[in-house]
Amino acid sequence: MTVQGKVIAITGASSGIGEATARHLASLGAAVVLGARRTERLDRLVAEIEAAGGEAAATRVDVTRPGDLQSLVTLAVERFGRLDVLVGNAGISRIGPVADLDVEGWSAMVDVNVKGILHGIAAALPVFRRQGAGHLVTVVSTSGLKIVPTQAVYAGTKNAVRTLLEGLRQESTDGVLRTTSISPGYVRTELIDNAVDDPAVREQARRNMADLGIDPVAVARAIAFAVDQPDDVEIGDLTIRPARQG
Ligand code: NDP
Repeated sequence: MTVQGKVIAITGASSGIGEATARHLASLGAAVVLGARRTERLDRLVAEIEAAGGEAAATRVDVTRPGDLQSLVTLAVERFGRLDVLVGNAGISRIGPVADLDVEGWSAMVDVNVKGILHGIAAALPVFRRQGAGHLVTVVSTSGLKIVPTQAVYAGTKNAVRTLLEGLRQESTDGVLRTTSISPGYVRTELIDNAVDDPAVREQARRNMADLGIDPVAVARAIAFAVDQPDDVEIGDLTIRPARQG
């Protein structure tokens, strides 16, 4: 089965990469099951997808709450009969030097970016095993590949997920589970709107985003490529960055 006919749950589907991915996968014939906290945005997206002839459902998901991920997976199974793919996309960024000691921001990033993925795994893995097949796609970052000042903790959370997925992959060589890490570079989204307290750092981040950032649909296409493979093919890692990004 390619993208068409797959049931695909996406966290963080209310904006940016998640929203673009939902729209793109639905346009390719997947049934998409959307989760995020801003449900009014999700409801609008579901209506838009259905108006275009696609299939979609949504529920409120805060990825820091394990039960919310269970609800997302349950919605997929009850509404569409199964879950083929979970896209763990929800994420936040707090930018600043480690020496700023933004302990609250560090905790928030670990809770959303790392524990949020673990909660997704806890919810989806039993369903994947029961079905005999499943695919976990996570949205990590080029920040984890090239470490730069002000992004150490964010990069650390993304690399924790990368490591987690590689371990999971090695434990899953029976062919039931496929794992994919997607590493975007600068993408024009709302990610940095709440990411930075320091005005100078925020300005630099905004400039980078405005100058370099690519359309989120580029990442959506990469996710679709990974999902659109024969059952015995796993796309492990994909990097999608602006051509001019250093
Ligand atoms: P956005 O801010 O546009 O989207 C982030 C999404 O995550 C929103 O839908 C938001 O929904 C959701 N989210 C945040 N916190 C939670 C939570 N606690 N529970 C559930 N959902 C949550 O940014 P992007 O689209 O850019 O971010 C998507 C992913 O891409 C993130 O993991 C980010 O780290 C990654 N990324 C982004 C890059 C970029 O340059 N933009 C580069 C590399 C990686 P809501 O607030 O409604 O809950």
